Amino acid sequence: VIQEALGRAQAAGNLNALVSLNDHAAAQAAEVQQKVEAGEALALAGLPIVIKDNINLSGTRTTCGSRILGNYVSPYTATAAQKLLDAGAVVIGKANMDEFAMGSSTESSASGPTLNPWDQARVPGGSSGGSAVAVAANITSVALGSDTGGSVRQPAALTGVYGLKPTYGRVSRYGLVAYASSLDQIGPFARTAQDLALLMNVIAGHDPLDATSLQAPPQFRAGTPDDLRGLRVGVIRESLQGNTPGVEQALQDTIDALRTAGATVGEVSIPELKYAIAAYYLIAMPEASSNLARYDGMVYGQRVQGSDLLESMTLTREQGFGREVQRRIMIGTYALSSGYYDAYYSKAMKVRRLIADEFSAAFRQYDVLLTPTSPFPAFRRGEKTSDPLAMYAADVDTVAINLAGLPALSVPAGFEVVDGVRLPVGVQFIAPALQDERLVALAGGLE
Ligand code: GLN
Repeated sequence: VIQEALGRAQAAGNLNALVSLNDHAAAQAAEVQQKVEAGEALALAGLPIVIKDNINLSGTRTTCGSRILGNYVSPYTATAAQKLLDAGAVVIGKANMDEFAMGSSTESSASGPTLNPWDQARVPGGSSGGSAVAVAANITSVALGSDTGGSVRQPAALTGVYGLKPTYGRVSRYGLVAYASSLDQIGPFARTAQDLALLMNVIAGHDPLDATSLQAPPQFRAGTPDDLRGLRVGVIRESLQGNTPGVEQALQDTIDALRTAGATVGEVSIPELKYAIAAYYLIAMPEASSNLARYDGMVYGQRVQGSDLLESMTLTREQGFGREVQRRIMIGTYALSSGYYDAYYSKAMKVRRLIADEFSAAFRQYDVLLTPTSPFPAFRRGEKTSDPLAMYAADVDTVAINLAGLPALSVPAGFEVVDGVRLPVGVQFIAPALQDERLVALAGGLE
């Protein structure tokens, strides 16, 4: 099975989904086989998987799609990855991503762009585009990504697979390279609700190595149509504007399917959502500017030698970071600086609180909320690269969920035909904190 997956990875090489292959995969599979033959029960025995290149795996390169970490080899393994290994899974490779997970298209990687298998002229979404494509192109059946503002859900929608952003704290962040620590979560991609459940039961749970991880033992299962009967679903009114016809259709088809199965569907307003993108970027960029201060060429990765210490650090950062990362470090530093902190960062934190409160109010009326995952299907490569604000706007449906720390799942919901090509469309279900299980159950019910 592992050989087969490696073969598929090679055959799909033109998509550039993986940045490195695991040379030890076959040997590790043999070890798993021995354990199974010795009677060990392993939930994921021999399962090939890929993980995003910002998740550390001891002895392998972790580049985060950046030149600055081009030669960085992880000395340790992230908890989520370790749990996969302990359950018998075999990591066959590391997945491409936008540099330091900053982006919505997987075009900003130092390893070049990842292509969307549905139309290779289009992006797969991002930043976890490599993981999404690994699953969409059938290299593996499951993958791990990370989601700070939509980076699992949006590429899942644009490639036609499931993508789950768990409740903040349900999956350990230990060993996930930090982008914006108060928003980052590792999440799975899969083609079935059952695979999502299988994976979440392995990777979720408390970790003493991550102080923000929660005591909430995972109890995931793929549901049946029974899970939809009596379910109260609230469509978020603010997400109904500005969608393409195919996205509107997919949302309507989902609503119809829910009603047929006995769910009740209503509408709910979250007025503060109009500030979500502004608040998100004013929180994510400051956190990033602080987290990325560690890449100065002294401890991690590449160093460009200058005539003194300061020049070495400056040259390393100038040449190591790409444009988008530099832009964010500058904006983030500005928003945190004396005199601007109150006007920007502190105001964004207040908006974050208000958004969380409005979600809580909506959940007094509804069990889950529903929106499109993205207002449009996959866009063309290069279409948004020269306009950062257009790229940020791609996250309009996803960032608020990270601000509020909630779980949300993108579910494949249909197709939109653009220029004669079928492009996948996804819808997003949002649940109250710690009710991630409900999302996977209802996904099973809709299958
Ligand atoms: N596109 C968003 C950003 O660039 C979200 C990225 C992510 O979730 N990692 O910040």
